[in-house]
Amino acid sequence: MSHPVDPQTPAISLLILDCPHCATKTAWQGNAHRPFCSARCKLIDLGAWATEGYSIPVDDPHFAQPDEHENDV
Ligand SMILES: [Zn+2]
Repeated sequence: MSHPVDPQTPAISLLILDCPHCATKTAWQGNAHRPFCSARCKLIDLGAWATEGYSIPVDDPHFAQPDEHENDV
């Protein structure tokens, strides 16, 4: 729809970054979803992070408790 880069914005304050999710060139200025290009990429990326967190049993007591006899490695 509208181009994210404002041609009247001074180059010194015009920061362009790649969306961490889809690598789209995105203007930092005025971007409510930065560093993502859009709310969609933001939600997808955060959703993937949350899902990944759930898949890793970091709170599993079988892994969380170290062997007391080998605790001074
Ligand atoms: Zn994106």
